[in-house]
Amino acid sequence: MAYDIPVPGYMTNNVNTLRLWSAKASEEFNLDYFNTGDYMSACESKVVSENITKVLYPNDNFFEGRELRLKQEYLLVSASIQDILRRFKADNSDIKTFPDKVAIQLNDTHPALAIPELMRLMVDEEDMEWKDAWDITTRTFGYTNHTVLPEALEEWPLSLMAKLLPRHLEIIYMINHNFLKEVAACFPGRDDLLSRMSIISENGEKYIRMAYLAAAGSHSVNGVAELHSRLVRETLLNDFYKLWPEKFNNKTNGVTPRRWMRAANPGLAALITDAVGDGWLKDLEMLRGLEEFAEDEEFQNQWREIKLSCKHSLADVVWNEEWVELHPDSMIDVQVKRIHEYKRQLLFALFIVSKYLEIKRSPDPRRVPRTCIIGGKAAPGYVRAKLIIKLINNIARIVNNDPATNSFLKVLFLPNYRVSLAERLIPAADLSEQISTAGKEASGTGNMKFALNGAVTIGTLDGANIEILEEVGKENIFIFGLNQEDVVNLKNRGYKPEVYIKKSQSLQEVMRLIGTDYFSTEEPGLFKPIYEELTGSDAYCLMADFDAYVSAQSAVEKAYRDKKCWTKMSILNVARCGKFSSDRTIREYASDIWNVERVDIPSSKKPELL
Ligand SMILES: *Cc1c(COP(=O)(O)O)cnc(C)c1O
Repeated sequence: MAYDIPVPGYMTNNVNTLRLWSAKASEEFNLDYFNTGDYMSACESKVVSENITKVLYPNDNFFEGRELRLKQEYLLVSASIQDILRRFKADNSDIKTFPDKVAIQLNDTHPALAIPELMRLMVDEEDMEWKDAWDITTRTFGYTNHTVLPEALEEWPLSLMAKLLPRHLEIIYMINHNFLKEVAACFPGRDDLLSRMSIISENGEKYIRMAYLAAAGSHSVNGVAELHSRLVRETLLNDFYKLWPEKFNNKTNGVTPRRWMRAANPGLAALITDAVGDGWLKDLEMLRGLEEFAEDEEFQNQWREIKLSCKHSLADVVWNEEWVELHPDSMIDVQVKRIHEYKRQLLFALFIVSKYLEIKRSPDPRRVPRTCIIGGKAAPGYVRAKLIIKLINNIARIVNNDPATNSFLKVLFLPNYRVSLAERLIPAADLSEQISTAGKEASGTGNMKFALNGAVTIGTLDGANIEILEEVGKENIFIFGLNQEDVVNLKNRGYKPEVYIKKSQSLQEVMRLIGTDYFSTEEPGLFKPIYEELTGSDAYCLMADFDAYVSAQSAVEKAYRDKKCWTKMSILNVARCGKFSSDRTIREYASDIWNVERVDIPSSKKPELL
């Protein structure tokens, strides 16, 4: 069953529709089974088929190869492709013009079965020649890759595909056969490439590599930030890049200024409109006009007042939802995102512990009070992520109840992180934590939302942080730690976290507290898996980055103590993040990949500004 969601855009005269699908049984109830007294079987078929769209698989950057998930991907793909073809045929007679009228962008590999599905419809149902159908298919599809993490890449067992979608498997075999012929022709004598590039991996159990299928079946392959697009070219799809360099491009992500500024932060939106007009809502580069106010005393005062009032309303939310007091006069230091080891919420937690020890050791009434807020969901089966949440909560209980430190340091874990909470949190933030291990975060969009709302970033050279640095300038961001190449080199040399622990007094003390159950007195050994990971393999290089991170946090405090300096940084972050509008991103997809031009839809009555 189709459900159309209206997408009105902003100040436009037309409304697009987003078509969503829900699995609905064609037969509610089987009366034959019912009449024989088999009540379960009478409704079993309905339950089984409607289950296909009942759940969104909750993993973030992790592939779980369940049969129900493959059925779900296929149902959604098949409904969409059949619907697209039906609509095309209603207004067009020549199927050869399909790629001129239709562009299909694969949002990751989850819908990559659309490639063999379109081939099936054209070859089996429309009686087309294979090579014509393939030409239409590759000119229609574009593929956006969202991660290079190996554990996130979809690889479906061939046996499962054979059982569920035997015709699609035949088509995938044919696609692969033709593809490998092209590889052989392009790289004669390179037999090694044939098994390396094969869409079907044949070492042990056979799998279908969906990223390879998507790359072979599309005319465009893009990543979502400059660094990530380079890693796609140089690692995951390097052989494909050598075969088809012209397919590869970058489309840096963006966020919509209507939600992430105007709706979420109406106070700041109004101040900005007073200063530079309201053009920024449709052309975010116009925020550049704020640069001339960066050191204006009156403007700075208004800027700080708005940030303070956002902190007060966040304090109300936190009080109502958590019954916890939040001090609006403290520096609001926020890390909100899905809980994942590569995002390093644990590094933030270790810093908090080191700050706690530092305050206890040297009390100083002039110290900057800091409220550290962590929020994010863990996938239900991700045990280590849940243990990290537990550690953060246990650290919070000790730090928040210590009278020697709690006027300077508070820790708060907010459950149920979601867009509506993000809309309250982000405008109130002073500091944005974007501290993933370099090379692991494809882009990030949270980083952009914070910068747009005048939070200053502390972050690594990862994902779109690199482009935020390029835009705001190095004096307006706190960058620290290993870059992507450093991480690779360190791992190749044989990374030993104990080397970094031995070098750092502060890190030793923090690790000793975790290793001796200081945060788990009631449940000895609870955090042993975390301690052993960090002192053993430390796959995400927390130990190697710790000292640089703590130094960057000291530089943050120094800058924050100088109100004028901090406010200037905050204003310049907003003024210089026009690049990170989703309008720019979508414009680039339209012109570089879909080959569509904008059309103005005239209206007899101009819509009024709400
Ligand atoms: C923007 C957003 C994200 C993505 O955050 P990252 O820091 O880029 O991982 C996740 N969840 C919610 C609710 C968001 O609004």
